Amino acid sequence: MPMYRYVCEKCGNEEVHLHGLSETPSFSCGNCGGKMSKTISKVGIVFKGSGFYITDSKNPTKAESKTE
Ligand SMILES: [Zn+2]
Repeated sequence: MPMYRYVCEKCGNEEVHLHGLSETPSFSCGNCGGKMSKTISKVGIVFKGSGFYITDSKNPTKAESKTE
């Protein structure tokens, strides 16, 4: 089930809610009771499993001496 980030239209309070793709539930702000609107960005899509790699500044190309 995907996680969605909701932002309060009144005070800007952010909450994360879990619900299905087809569902469009309405949440009220836990801070001021205002209307929460869904933001486009999904939560938890950045680190998808362990398949990501870190790009560091080190140059991985080895200077192999090639003797002919
Ligand atoms: Zn609020």
